[in-house]
Amino acid sequence: MKPLQTPEMPEASEASEIRAISPIPLQVFACCHCTSTYFPARSLCAACGRAEFVAVDGEAGWIEQWTELHQSQRQKQLSTDDPAERQARRYLATVRTSAGPLVVAAMDEAGAAGLAVTLCHEGARLIARRKKAC
Ligand SMILES: [Zn+2]
Repeated sequence: MKPLQTPEMPEASEASEIRAISPIPLQVFACCHCTSTYFPARSLCAACGRAEFVAVDGEAGWIEQWTELHQSQRQKQLSTDDPAERQARRYLATVRTSAGPLVVAAMDEAGAAGLAVTLCHEGARLIARRKKAC
C-alpha cells in the first residue's frame, strides 16, 4: 500500500506573508447602443432596453454630498479593540462620476461639495479619496 502524500507546505516566510489589497479603479457600464451609463451593472439598459454594455473608466468624480457616520458608545466598544480605530471618524460621500452615474463611497476624511476625488474598490469597499494635485 502506498503512503498518502501530503501537500507541500509553504515556507514559513511565504505562509506568514500578508497580502495587501490592491485598489482597483472604478469602472462603470455604458450601453453600447445609446451610451447611457450605470453603476452597478444592469442586465438591461433602462433607456433603450438593450443588453450590451462595455466597461468604461469611472475613477474620476466629484462630491455632491457627504456625511459623517456616528456610532453609539456601545457600537464603538464592539467594533474593535484598537483605541485608535475606535476614535477614527468615518464618512460617506455621494459622488458624481465623470462617466455619469452617482455612487456612494466611503471616505477617510471629511469631504466638501465639488471636491474632486478618485474612486477605487478596496476589497468589498468603494473608496473615494481626494484627488491629488499634479
Ligand atoms: Zn441603451
